[in-house]
Amino acid sequence: MGKALIIGAGGVASVVVHKCCQNSDVFEEICIASRTIEKCEALKNKLDGDRTKIQTAQLNADNTDEVIDIIKKFEPDVVINVALPYQDLTIMDACLATGVHYVDTANYEPPDTPKFEYKWQWAYKEKFEEAGITALLGSGFDPGVTGVFTAYAQKHHFDEIHTIDIVDANAGDHGYPFATNFNPEINIREITANGRYFENGKWIETEPLAEKRVYNLPEIGPKDIYLLYHEELESLSINIKGVKKIRFWMTFSEKYLTHLHVLENVGMTSIEPIEFEGKEIIPLQFLKAVLPDPASLGPRTKGKTNIGCIIRGIKDGKPKTYYVYNVCDHEECYREVGSQAISYTTGVPAMIGAMLIMKGIWKKPGVYNVEEFDPDPFMDALNKYGLPWQENFTPTLID
Ligand code: NDP
Repeated sequence: MGKALIIGAGGVASVVVHKCCQNSDVFEEICIASRTIEKCEALKNKLDGDRTKIQTAQLNADNTDEVIDIIKKFEPDVVINVALPYQDLTIMDACLATGVHYVDTANYEPPDTPKFEYKWQWAYKEKFEEAGITALLGSGFDPGVTGVFTAYAQKHHFDEIHTIDIVDANAGDHGYPFATNFNPEINIREITANGRYFENGKWIETEPLAEKRVYNLPEIGPKDIYLLYHEELESLSINIKGVKKIRFWMTFSEKYLTHLHVLENVGMTSIEPIEFEGKEIIPLQFLKAVLPDPASLGPRTKGKTNIGCIIRGIKDGKPKTYYVYNVCDHEECYREVGSQAISYTTGVPAMIGAMLIMKGIWKKPGVYNVEEFDPDPFMDALNKYGLPWQENFTPTLID
């Protein structure tokens, strides 16, 4: 059917590449372009020879002209941005300049301000409409599948949605005292920021990790969950009409939090540059360099993830509750694609989003979040491509 340019060659990109190759009727050709060409080559060497043809390219995606050059040479139908959020705008600019569809999994965040917001990317809406191309924002798991789950609940189970609690649990154990499951810089910036949730049209801020509950998750058991701000809250608060409250919860073990607190207390999570031996360094970037590479956790990680949405609202005049979630097993993911479940649960939806655009099913000029499209084809594809979901109509609610 067509060609995809995949930007990035890290944990998530590796899953996207595997999944595109498993779906070669749609992805006849892919180009893996990233900063470190050796990582692109390693992926190509692992998968070359199947039906999907693979090219590689060295690319600094901070530079729009370099992205434009690669797009002009490779002529993709869609660009799947699985580099870092800092590259979102330069890649969107390149897509506009060349008339190519765009998909990502994380919203733009300026490197010097840990404040992720959709405003920068939503500002491209008119330009994408005029160019006749689609930008699909946040097509990972959270954001991504959580928005699709909510849209599915809205379409099939509710007349009105009143509350949404997104619960992201990772009961995986990689055996290291401390490591992050995806890019450490992005991960730690997210966790050390203030918590925030939406209630009755307002945003309520909390101290970092100040709100804690215990939730008994299917196939995982009881876990400590902490309230965080997460980017899909912003788009869902606008796109789910009438919603009164949306919160996002993530599990952290005591061991993880103890390490994090120590690192914070000694200044290692700071993004303020410091002078070190005559050179300017950013402590958080230095920390990233000494922590295990998330891509190396795959072979060591055992256990499961469970991510889903617990929703309350009204159907046919009566109160209704609904919980829709996916359980993913780290070791099964590793056996299938050589990555742990965090990369897997992000890479599969990125491939699905790109596929739906290429097939014309989710193609609509403009800039959109996933919940703005018909959820049904995405939900079907989740079952088909490795992220089957389950439903519970009597879930325990979070107070
Ligand atoms: P990694 O750090 O493993 O990979 C990032 C890749 O991008 C690396 O290959 C890196 O190159 C490359 N890269 C970084 N900067 C540039 C640049 N300027 N030009 C070209 N390539 C560049 O991260 P992950 O794979 O874990 O995460 C990828 C994305 O997925 C992130 O945006 C993350 O926020 C998002 N994500 C989304 C989730 C969701 O559910 N929605 C969940 C998890 C992650 P190099 O190899 O040289 O470092």
